[in-house]
Amino acid sequence: MKHKEIIAKLTLEEKCCLLSGRDFWSTYGIKAAGVPSVSLSDGPHGLRKERKDAKPGTHDSYPATCFPTAATAANSWDPDLGEEIGKAIAEEAASRGVEVLLGPGMNIKRNPLCGRNFEYFSEDPYLAGKMAAGYIRGIQSQGISACPKHFAANNMELRRLASDSIVDERTLREIYLTGFEIAVKEADPKCIMASYNEVNGVYANENRHLLQEILRDEWGFSGFVVSDWGAGDDFTEGVRAGSNLEMPGNKGDSAWQLVKAVTDGRISESTVDERVDELLDVVLSTYGSTEPRKGRPFDMDAHHAAAMRACEQSIVLLKNDSGILPLKKGTRVAVIGDFAFEPRYQGAGSSLVNATRVERCVDVIKDFPLDIAGFERGFLRSGKKDPELVKRACELAAKADAVLFYMGLDEASEAENLDRKDMKIHLDQIELLSALAEVNENIIAVMAAGSAVEMPWESKCRAIIHGYLSGQAGASAILRVITGETDPSGKLAETYPLSYEDVPSAPYFPAKERNVEYREGLYVGYRYYETAGVPVRYPFGYGLSYTTFSYSGIRASRDKVSFTLTNTGERDGAEIAEVYVSALDPRVLRPARELKGFCKVFLKAGESRRVEIKLDDKAFRYFSTKTDRFEEDGGKYEIQVGASSQDIRLRETIEIAGTGAELPYGPDELPHYRTGDIRDVPDEEFRKLYGREIPDGKWHRTLGLNDSIYQIRTAKSLKARLIWKYLKKRIDRSMKRGEPDLDLVFLFNMPFRAFSKISGGLFSLDMCRALVTMANGHTAAFLAGACAFAVAYLRQRKTANRSDMIK
Ligand code: BGC
Repeated sequence: MKHKEIIAKLTLEEKCCLLSGRDFWSTYGIKAAGVPSVSLSDGPHGLRKERKDAKPGTHDSYPATCFPTAATAANSWDPDLGEEIGKAIAEEAASRGVEVLLGPGMNIKRNPLCGRNFEYFSEDPYLAGKMAAGYIRGIQSQGISACPKHFAANNMELRRLASDSIVDERTLREIYLTGFEIAVKEADPKCIMASYNEVNGVYANENRHLLQEILRDEWGFSGFVVSDWGAGDDFTEGVRAGSNLEMPGNKGDSAWQLVKAVTDGRISESTVDERVDELLDVVLSTYGSTEPRKGRPFDMDAHHAAAMRACEQSIVLLKNDSGILPLKKGTRVAVIGDFAFEPRYQGAGSSLVNATRVERCVDVIKDFPLDIAGFERGFLRSGKKDPELVKRACELAAKADAVLFYMGLDEASEAENLDRKDMKIHLDQIELLSALAEVNENIIAVMAAGSAVEMPWESKCRAIIHGYLSGQAGASAILRVITGETDPSGKLAETYPLSYEDVPSAPYFPAKERNVEYREGLYVGYRYYETAGVPVRYPFGYGLSYTTFSYSGIRASRDKVSFTLTNTGERDGAEIAEVYVSALDPRVLRPARELKGFCKVFLKAGESRRVEIKLDDKAFRYFSTKTDRFEEDGGKYEIQVGASSQDIRLRETIEIAGTGAELPYGPDELPHYRTGDIRDVPDEEFRKLYGREIPDGKWHRTLGLNDSIYQIRTAKSLKARLIWKYLKKRIDRSMKRGEPDLDLVFLFNMPFRAFSKISGGLFSLDMCRALVTMANGHTAAFLAGACAFAVAYLRQRKTANRSDMIK
């Protein structure tokens, strides 16, 4: 132990309090022992430090720079850019006295409907891991601790606190953990956030396999694990499994459970000491390095400019028929679309930044060399039709050489706690697009959306620029690309399927009851489309430039691949070259190709450069459930270099000796997984892949502490069922208004025990138990539950604030 002396000065109560938050955003400090309190804040694309006097639930935070969200920045395929963003956010965090920044978010985009995809990087773990590592390096360069999240297999928002991700070990390791592995091994984050969900029957925050065996023992993680806010279940089990900090604090309710568990002999004091030691290591180092910068202002203008650069590097040009873009100087443009007036530049939920300023296209366009025919909103972002707006927009469009049509997903479509219902953009926008295309053939769509959408309307546009969720300086960045001040160089970090029905996990998403079955296995995103030969709208890794690039002269070995990249066009520009590995005659099942390297290269017009990309330990490996470790299958592999997952320009075959391990499955086993035909995997085959019985996962009418509030829909108590109706009505009403009540949705999705975790000490676990009893009974049992609640409440009043003695 590194901090033996300090720990020796602490009482058992103090140690247990250290492992559970002091309040919503900070840890306990214990002056007498020299332990400072540290503060934690969101978030992934800008600081969300709540104001001291913020009313609960208002999410009122100090102004901070809103950078493009992770889904956007990932399109840059540039970890150095991630590093710059991370550094700038951390500067702001240091100046506000925040030691732990809760980001980056790096879950895999398993399904395009996950409401939080805008906060995540990619459908590919290699790209997600490299980008996250960049952010972490940047954040930690400022002495702040980064906190990659949400570890692990948290790929759905619906009932995320009360669901169980059923995922086989190979898929878990190769798809859902590899990104975290890269982030941990390459950037050494000082903290990691355990997710809300269970992973194969054990809550992530109590999952020894994840937190100890993989994270610490295999990857060498040396920081501390914090629970997601309210993710704590059995505090003692969490501590035993390797979790160091339960957040938010609940006035000692959890801490005193741990004290009792130690005195009852359920857990040893030395385990508690170990967790405290790991936590102290970060607390002491981060506190020391940020203290001198607290209160020092940051350069808002410089950070706004950095947000603009980040967006420019991440914009994806999806279509450019006959080179309509960049627009020539003096082109007469009609600017149409609600998003030109009120940009969509970030998503909703815990990542929502109170931006220092927000650019609007209608304000900044005057600084660009275009002739403006006029501005029209054209549609209401809520989706409600307005024929008058359409008429005015068409009249304007008819008077211009080209139309800049600002379209996309509205705020209600992309939010934490809520998955999307479909992948569509509101019909009123699409109808307007058709009407505009009738009067002007030069429609340039400017899209704002943090996750993939269906685009059956694509043919109506001459050009499509995708700004994703562009951050506060997106308007200028996009116009710089439109006018050719900057060459577009982003490429998609996720596939755009033709329709949602084509998505591999669509048949299994969202979960119906408790089980979230990852039946599609390894076949996420392009791994599926490429293997099963399913056509897509835009493939993974796709994006155009105003210039062109050629690839030649490949040389490959098991450690590296090199080739010559030439800018064959007349403009300077950057190309993202992607390296895929494809097993030619695999004995273990494999997706058709997998990303194993990439590099963004800037070349002047006509310039050539020899590019070398390293192939690391992840290039050929697969996880064997037979040997319980990564192995390599000997044989021939094609090293492919391409401009997208479907545009392979160079190929070279190499031979790998392999590790010679016994194969995990025979040649005739798992037929659906061998071909990628995984949309209807029979139970028996999934069980075989999973390697054990699939848990029942069915909801039962008799509720438990870990069942969601949503489940009171069928509770025995009539009163509970009426409460369900009332809550549902309120949520539906907020949805209809286009302003989903995310706090209420969170409450609906959370389990009973979470009241004791997120209420700041108002509810004890015993009170939660009493609530369950009330929900489970008819009148007599309801009354008994109510009495138990009253007793627990009185006891709570007596004992809450016990932790106030910790100074
Ligand atoms: C989110 C986390 C966030 C935390 C604190 C949780 O609901 O899942 O990503 O960091 O709240 O705001």
